Amino acid sequence: MHLEGSCHCKAVTFTVDCPHPAPYMRCYCTICRKTGGGGGYAINLGADFESLGIEGKENIRVYQAINEDPETGKATKSPAERSFCGLCGTALWVWDPRWSDLVHPFASTIDSELPVAPTHNHIMLDFKASWVPVEKSKGDGSFPAYPDESLAAWHKRMGLVKE
Ligand SMILES: [Zn+2]
Ligand SMILES: [Zn+2]
Repeated sequence: MHLEGSCHCKAVTFTVDCPHPAPYMRCYCTICRKTGGGGGYAINLGADFESLGIEGKENIRVYQAINEDPETGKATKSPAERSFCGLCGTALWVWDPRWSDLVHPFASTIDSELPVAPTHNHIMLDFKASWVPVEKSKGDGSFPAYPDESLAAWHKRMGLVKE
């Protein structure tokens, strides 16, 4: 699926090919909550990094979170690069060098019509803020951290991938 997206001030616009566009994965982690805003979670899509075309690249800034190991207390910089608009602050996408052929745009930036996900996964619930309710519907999954199933595998299981 070909998607078009933009930040709120339109200083950054982009297009990307997105084989896994169902917005089903609600991430309640502290980074998504704070940098993405919204209902206490953010939703990433699975897209092809190579297809990403950007206008206004000079307005993009990149954030790499510092994560603290809960056991050792050691702080390390996450390799995941979170791109956002330096003018309006819109969270745009996450790119991680460990999975460099993928890019994960935030569903909130997409201007194209996205498919409606049949069920949702609520993830990183160990990090959810206490004021955020988990609005679970029938068939939804919930996970303390990341689920084992990839975005691609979930789309296949739901019959959403054309072969
Ligand atoms: Zn902007
Ligand atoms: Zn997150």
